[in-house]
Amino acid sequence: MDRRHFVVVGASQAGCWISKTLRQEGFKGKITMIGEESYYPYERPPLSKDVLLGKTDIESTYFFKPESYKDDDIEVLLNTRVQKISCSDKNILLQDGRLLSWDRLALATGSRVRRLEVEGSGLDGIHYLRSLNDTRVIKESAKPDSTVVIVGGGWIGLECAATLKTLGCNPIVIESSDRLCARAVAPDISAWMNDFHTKNGIDIRLNTSVKSFKGDGSVTRVCLSDNSQIDCSSVVIGIGVLPNVELAEEAGLLVDNGIVVDDLCATSDKDIFAAGDVANHPNNFLKQRVRLESWDNAMKQGISAGISMLGKGKSYSEIPWFWSQQFDANIQIIGIPDSWDEAVVRGTKTANEFTEFYLKDNQIVGAVAVNNNREIRVTKRLMQSGKKIESADLTDSSKNIQTLV
Ligand code: NAP
Repeated sequence: MDRRHFVVVGASQAGCWISKTLRQEGFKGKITMIGEESYYPYERPPLSKDVLLGKTDIESTYFFKPESYKDDDIEVLLNTRVQKISCSDKNILLQDGRLLSWDRLALATGSRVRRLEVEGSGLDGIHYLRSLNDTRVIKESAKPDSTVVIVGGGWIGLECAATLKTLGCNPIVIESSDRLCARAVAPDISAWMNDFHTKNGIDIRLNTSVKSFKGDGSVTRVCLSDNSQIDCSSVVIGIGVLPNVELAEEAGLLVDNGIVVDDLCATSDKDIFAAGDVANHPNNFLKQRVRLESWDNAMKQGISAGISMLGKGKSYSEIPWFWSQQFDANIQIIGIPDSWDEAVVRGTKTANEFTEFYLKDNQIVGAVAVNNNREIRVTKRLMQSGKKIESADLTDSSKNIQTLV
């Protein structure tokens, strides 16, 4: 009999993978997973797409069926907030006053939206999109022909704009930078995105920010930095997220742009682990520390943390991968290329079917593919192998790139 108690803080994507992995890897002790929301761990990608469109119900977004946690003897405490972690006493204090002791702890506390603080930002009708409840509220306010101002031309903003347009609304995207998704893609890909969304009927205003929101109780007007105004019926804000590090920080764990973990997902306390949006890890492929806000990382790092909690961990080493769906464009990004010698395109941008490869010293350091997911899979293998590639072999679309592996 194993009398140990492993506690997972965060009923999130990373949290559920940690809990499930502990059982799948044979842990016989007690597992408790704690979450603030009233839902079992759910997928976030559909929130700005199929859930907002009304095509998917809540149950279909769950990673695992609620009853499966019972089957796996995983205690799930929903609607429960953790107030304090004590490393020295090895316990956590819940907001309702309960004290839980733990032998090993995992932090999968994720991230929260960055709030826009300007005059009128507390008006009704101004929404953020992070949770199932947020999507419900946005969906209710998305009436056909209504003007919705979207603040932020990043992933949330663009996915949301595409979905709201499909629902018959008129989205207007306000982006403070001079290009879309500036932190994630190269300038020419931002330009392609701008063109693609404009052709799909989205009004995009770059180099523009919000000065104030006006309305009597509910937002009816947005005043912009260029002194123009937009009359609207609602607003959706997507200007990035902040890692939920406060519990870790107060507990004395090392925090620096997220909870600092090693390649086994262990924090500065050897019995506490972290994974997902909140964890800042050394990435072997990128040869630098990163905190990744992605679906793929939350799952794989969660699994890795679960295995490490059992003392069987292997170095977490994944090439970052990320995807988005906007109208009929499936956009995939592999690697986080920030510098390259050469960028070459295979396929045609105007046909919205292409892959752009970034090469350094004849090795692929990253790629962005639009409606070309098979090429991303091959690219991953080429990146893993570190093989030297001639750019002409990539751009020659008569050549199957599989043959380069
Ligand atoms: P994001 O991708 O970081 O984009 C936020 C955008 O808002 C950036 O372009 C940012 O510009 C801009 N911005 C910041 N302050 C602004 C302001 N005051 N006015 C106008 N624009 C402003 O963040 P997000 O779209 O909010 O998404 C949140 C998180 O969810 C991210 O981690 C994202 O990766 C994730 N997500 C992922 C997917 C997916 O995997 N498909 C989909 C949706 C969301 P600067 O860069 O210049 O600050």
